[in-house]
Amino acid sequence: MGDISRLAIHQATTEPQWELPEAIAGYARCGVHAITVRRDKLAACGMAAAKRLLADHGTKVVGLSRAHLPTAAEPESRRKGLDAFRRAIEEAAELDAGYLITLADGLPRGSKDLEGARARARDALGELLPEAVAAGVPLGLEPLHPMNAHFSCINRLGEASDLVTELGPGVGVLVDVYHVWWDPALEAEIAHAGRTIMGVHLSDWLVPTRDLMFDRGMIGDGVIDLARVCRRLDEAGFTGRHEIEIFSQVDWWQRDPDEVVRTAVERYREHC
Ligand code: ZN
Repeated sequence: MGDISRLAIHQATTEPQWELPEAIAGYARCGVHAITVRRDKLAACGMAAAKRLLADHGTKVVGLSRAHLPTAAEPESRRKGLDAFRRAIEEAAELDAGYLITLADGLPRGSKDLEGARARARDALGELLPEAVAAGVPLGLEPLHPMNAHFSCINRLGEASDLVTELGPGVGVLVDVYHVWWDPALEAEIAHAGRTIMGVHLSDWLVPTRDLMFDRGMIGDGVIDLARVCRRLDEAGFTGRHEIEIFSQVDWWQRDPDEVVRTAVERYREHC
């Protein structure tokens, strides 16, 4: 049985059921005092109230979700994108978050230039990283499954890792198993990323999957060898938290959130 001192829960797991105050309290009831906070839920709660609740429950903010690296070629859109990212850095600093979850934007509207989008995401990261470092906010760069390339254009762990090597320190990779489990280079990339791995997101790949965005499986219900991936991460030197992140419109979002969290904790003990 695994211990839960390394477990965190991403608020997406109980997104429609719980606002931030209920999530902080509900996770703590199951012994989990580490949370990844969604910015829309933070805005609804208010920064001062959120900080008070976190302190009351002894809960640590592992990650803040999320900020986007702009890929727009047009200067005004790019400037807006960079400013939006800067606001996220300020919030992460204020919350003392372990990292700010960083995604690349995808293809600008009407564009088919994926290569250009990737180059502009890299340039945006290069521009924003010194500001994040100055604010004391580590950036966690999360590659998304290739089915999302139109929406977010960094799609393999190796790509994210190359950017981290080129531009770091101050930026690391986030390994979300749902996005990278299929990659034949996964284990080599985990070993290569090593201590630049900032965080890990856990869920499972269901067969069949009914909705590619919103039908993530509970740990143990799908085909990802989670125990093996967690072992490889440890071997690579990862010592941080495992966040459970389950977007599940058709199943877990319909259930009693206490049951969701209880089940997630049990499954984590069993499989990771
Ligand atoms: Zn994730």
